[in-house]
Amino acid sequence: MSQSEDPSRRDFLAASLAGAAVGVLASGQSAEAASPSPEKAAATVKVRYAELLPHEFRKRLAERPIAYLPLGTLEWHGEHLPLGADALQSEGLMIECARRLGGIVMPPIYLGPDRAKPTDDGKMLVGMDYADSTTPPRQLDGSCYWVPMGLHLLMVDAILAQLQRAGFRAVFADGHGPSRWSWVENLSERQARFGLKLFGVTKDISRLWKSQVDHAARNETSLVMHLRPDLVDLSQLPASRSVWPQGVARVFAADATAAHGKECFEQSVELVRQMFAQAGLL
Ligand SMILES: [Zn+2]
Repeated sequence: MSQSEDPSRRDFLAASLAGAAVGVLASGQSAEAASPSPEKAAATVKVRYAELLPHEFRKRLAERPIAYLPLGTLEWHGEHLPLGADALQSEGLMIECARRLGGIVMPPIYLGPDRAKPTDDGKMLVGMDYADSTTPPRQLDGSCYWVPMGLHLLMVDAILAQLQRAGFRAVFADGHGPSRWSWVENLSERQARFGLKLFGVTKDISRLWKSQVDHAARNETSLVMHLRPDLVDLSQLPASRSVWPQGVARVFAADATAAHGKECFEQSVELVRQMFAQAGLL
């Protein structure tokens, strides 16, 4: 999509970025034990950009100048998952990567592109609104994230320019499908333009990648069960397996488990480690 020369786009961009909030994960809670285990101590390391004091930022940046950018949405993920499932998963994965490998996690972007088409009554259907599993096609409750591709590209460009200015040398971004695809598609051009090493779920690793590979089905449901079990309610799924959950794509969500989520999560963290290692960042 071409980028318009509309002078108001800067204001629009600024407003959009200001709206990106910092997500909250259970893993960020403080350990109450007097002498926490190494695992617990690692879980309390601050890695979210917005939480760092300047001296903590300088130290983390010097140790590993890698930024993580979670690509989220506020989007219907079936009746059983929270609307922020995309950012919960991508930010959750990145927080773990940052704790194990170093680096700093940006606040998630909750706005993203998706396919869209007008309806006869003058409205617009977006993404899963007109998936095969949405019958009849309709605006799914709670979906509130769509931006045109041109605006998304501008937002990500602006974030990269700021990350480069702040001193980062590498950025890993991932999450919501269409945002992920756009990121990967523009990887080499942006790498040259911003002088940053950029990482994403490219073709080289996509077959092994196990994070956010369906829509609210077994994979995403398992990942949210691993990261935030308190936010999942499987009892909201249809009782009968012959009834497919609305707006859900791929394997049965009813087969999701936290253990499967952990497996997918660990495999993806390991792939990120391998990418960074191969690039000489670790
Ligand atoms: Zn999702």
